[in-house]
Amino acid sequence: MKFLLLLLISLLVVWLWRSGRTAEPREKRPPGTARPTAAKATPQDMVRCAHCGLHLPLSEAVASTSAHYCSTEHRRLAEPGMY
Ligand SMILES: [Zn+2]
Repeated sequence: MKFLLLLLISLLVVWLWRSGRTAEPREKRPPGTARPTAAKATPQDMVRCAHCGLHLPLSEAVASTSAHYCSTEHRRLAEPGMY
């Protein structure tokens, strides 16, 4: 009977030790490590190419005086007199 009690206690200790170890890293993780996915998902202004209709981020768009384009080629084709 004593042996069974010792086994039960040791199992309880192991279980507590293991649950404590698995729970700790998640809580101790600094907030910065979970950020990359959030930073990736930050919304960007989207613009439409005035020539082909392609939607692209404003940072990648080629801007002209009146519209945005996906490339300098499309800007040239849409506004032949200007460039
Ligand atoms: Zn285009």
